[in-house]
Amino acid sequence: MIIIDGSEGEGGGQILRNACALSLVTGEPFIIEKIRGRRDQPGLMRQHLTAIEAACTIGGAQCEGLELGSNRIAFRPGSVMPGEYRFAVGTAGSTALVLQTVLVPLALVDKPSRLVIEGGTHASMAPPFDFIEKCFLPVFERMGPRVSTRIKRHGFFPRGGGRIEIDIEPAPLRRIECIERGQPQGREGTVLLASLDDQIAHRIRKAALKNLPDWPEDRITLRELPADQGPGVALVLASSFDNVTEVVSGFGKLGLSAERIGATAGKRMAGYEASKAFAGPYLQDQLLLPMALAGGGAFTSVKISDHTRTAAETIARFTGRTTRFEQDGEGRQLVRIA
Ligand code: AMP
Repeated sequence: MIIIDGSEGEGGGQILRNACALSLVTGEPFIIEKIRGRRDQPGLMRQHLTAIEAACTIGGAQCEGLELGSNRIAFRPGSVMPGEYRFAVGTAGSTALVLQTVLVPLALVDKPSRLVIEGGTHASMAPPFDFIEKCFLPVFERMGPRVSTRIKRHGFFPRGGGRIEIDIEPAPLRRIECIERGQPQGREGTVLLASLDDQIAHRIRKAALKNLPDWPEDRITLRELPADQGPGVALVLASSFDNVTEVVSGFGKLGLSAERIGATAGKRMAGYEASKAFAGPYLQDQLLLPMALAGGGAFTSVKISDHTRTAAETIARFTGRTTRFEQDGEGRQLVRIA
């Protein structure tokens, strides 16, 4: 039985999601204590409950302590069953993070699966749908499985109500190396806006462009969504290279100015473009799990995040695989999973 201290390292929900996925694939049961011990509101929130319930459903797993606010769960995996599943977070909690919990186990079985996940699609502290679709999945598909996604409805904080659909064609995961991102292939930005004054979107766009002097102005457009998907606003910037597309995002929140949303995302994208790294700061921690289960892999990245170091530790507990971080000659981090 693996015992995990959920307040170690980054101390958030990622330890929990990675532990569920790793447990389903390796068959190792685990107990996690002090769940989300470093968050302001520790313990299980709605979105974590949904992610663990999803892991139990697809994996025939049993879980003790599964309730809102719980600080400890004991998870005993069964066998992963492909099929058609629907999971609803019930808040604006992230649909992408529920997917992150079940994707790799379902990609390693012998039959396809279809998922419908309802909740937030564009809210802070989680990958927006566009990141999953354009940045994460194309790299994941290079490891073997085929995954297609569709967004049926957008879901913003606090209302949620978004809906995504995912089809997974499994395949054994193979090792890949993602060292060079290749030549630039194009840039595209969108301000998604629902049921809010469009001046907000224009201000976000302007602030982003101010920090992206190399981006032609017409590269960031405004997309108005049906009012019943709002209120909400999000900025999604995508910069494509031969081998990877980086997606940087910003989300509207009460008390956060439009200028701040645009400027922060713009600066982050400019920082990524100025580097020579393959993976941005979020792809970094999300690539570790599939690479470890592929038996290893390597990629270059920007500065290593706490999420990434924590993911590496959780992976080592279940698989014995170690992750090495070193600086390469190009000013990038080289991440290598043994
Ligand atoms: P945690 O904070 O432990 O719940 O984990 C959050 C997860 O969401 C990590 O895997 C992050 O890489 C990911 N994440 C957070 N914000 C973004 C973002 N803006 N774009 C892509 N992924 C994100």
